[in-house]
Amino acid sequence: MEILSYEWLMAHAQNPADHLTRAFAGVIHGSRRNNGLKTHAMLGLAEENFASLMESHFPGALQNAGMSVTGSAAAPGCEAMCGEEFGDLLDLLLEHRTRPDKESEWLAFAIATACMGNDHLYQDMGLPNRQILSGLLSEYFTSLFVRNTGNMKWKKFFYKQLCDRSGVNACRAPSCAVCTDYLKCFGSEDGPAN
Ligand code: SF4
Repeated sequence: MEILSYEWLMAHAQNPADHLTRAFAGVIHGSRRNNGLKTHAMLGLAEENFASLMESHFPGALQNAGMSVTGSAAAPGCEAMCGEEFGDLLDLLLEHRTRPDKESEWLAFAIATACMGNDHLYQDMGLPNRQILSGLLSEYFTSLFVRNTGNMKWKKFFYKQLCDRSGVNACRAPSCAVCTDYLKCFGSEDGPAN
């Protein structure tokens, strides 16, 4: 089994049924597959923070893989995650944490990382459906979750939040109700992202 693949991570999972654990496995696997990032660059987390996540959710995995953590500096080689867009998304999520704990910090990094992907957010997080993602957002980022009253697609909703708070109006229509892009922002996320 390939090291840091989804299956390999879940074989080390403390609680394989935990949705948070599954989300971390999906994003770590996806970011490694898509970006070719080195181990400690996963999610853009500093090395020690990434090691804490691994020990908490996949105990013994790093040791079994012969991987070591050497410092607490921001992960090198994560340029793709360190841009303005990633930082803005991360800040938005961190501001809305329900509790100021490590789990929600790690999940904020994971979501911001997955937002760099091309599919629906739950798909880029390796989750089986949108409902599980919505449940995680409701629990860990409650004040942000409740703002999505129109059930907007999650990536679209996050970017709309960023536009709104920076005073940018990227929408071509005066309102969603008359917008020709309505189905790109709302509607089912069961199929491929458009
Ligand atoms: S549906 Fe149209 S107006 Fe509404 S957020 Fe999307 S692009 Fe903007």
